[in-house]
Amino acid sequence: MSTILDGTKIAADIRAEVAAEVKSLSAAGLTPGLAVVLVGHNPASEIYVRGKVKACEEVGIYSEKITPSENATTAELLALVEDLNRRDEIDGILVQLPLPPQVDSKKILMAVDPAKDVDGFHPVNVGFLSTQRPGLVPCTPAGVMEILRRSNIQVAGQEAVVVGRSDIVGKPVAMLLTNANATVTICHSKTRDLPAVCRRADILVAAIGRAGMITRDFVRPGATVIDVGMNKVTDPKEFASLFAGNQKREESFRTKGSTLVGDVHPEVAEIAGAITPVPGGVGPLTIAMLMFNTVKAAKLRRGNRVSALISA
Ligand code: NAP
Repeated sequence: MSTILDGTKIAADIRAEVAAEVKSLSAAGLTPGLAVVLVGHNPASEIYVRGKVKACEEVGIYSEKITPSENATTAELLALVEDLNRRDEIDGILVQLPLPPQVDSKKILMAVDPAKDVDGFHPVNVGFLSTQRPGLVPCTPAGVMEILRRSNIQVAGQEAVVVGRSDIVGKPVAMLLTNANATVTICHSKTRDLPAVCRRADILVAAIGRAGMITRDFVRPGATVIDVGMNKVTDPKEFASLFAGNQKREESFRTKGSTLVGDVHPEVAEIAGAITPVPGGVGPLTIAMLMFNTVKAAKLRRGNRVSALISA
């Protein structure tokens, strides 16, 4: 059986480190601040935003939740973002997606000051990442790298295969692995003989959005498998194909009527060298890295003023 890479523990360590740093920054007069913009009443977005605000409270980051109505226009949201860009005590701006259909999402994300873009989605930050300059890195991909680093999994010189090429996960993960000197292959829905390409991997990252798609045929025994997928399974047949015989899961599926599954089939745990579970793998890292990014943004933008204060 493989080593289970405990994302919950790694995320808790990062949050504790961030909290210690926030404490010393605050003592020097710099309390990092995060503004979260939640437009309308998308139930999933409301849960995510609640988690982000709570995490800020726990690590000592000042947070502000701004909730424009469902009918907000692009112009109104642009004015809001511009106001947040101007406010010095706000270091990070997070616009929770998806935005309502009448809003031009790309325009809104482009309007966020790259220095405050804690999601790391602005093309300026994408450019910084690809040219290895200091900037803000998307949270989930940064979390994947933290799992590898803190689990002492060698990346340099290794074959890494990333399945998925989204701007949010696949591409930035591939870029981070390249920057860390892995030899990287990016796969997608048009890749020929995906299992054979995946079997080349020392490190296999699945960011697809299809429950249990990566079965044992895709994995070289001993490989490290990072499962970014988060899929809700409600169909009993599909559930049985993934978890038959797993009493704990069966019990929770019976009571809740659904279960959270990654893109990697549970059978892969029998042959992988190390693997992230779902839940409790990559998921918890996303908010931890958002906290990390907010502090990083504060230091990059206002840090020299604080050092000047300390040395004065
Ligand atoms: P996405 O934008 O839908 O991208 C999915 C990628 O998978 C695409 O590049 C697509 O290829 C590829 N793909 C789809 N079907 C495939 C197949 N049969 N064979 C090979 N490649 C295939 O999804 P995403 O936003 O990157 O998210 C991926 C997963 O990660 C989802 O389950 C999401 O919920 C999860 N996620 C988790 C976190 C977290 O905090 N843990 C954060 C973000 C996302 P094409 O480009 O050819 O269409």
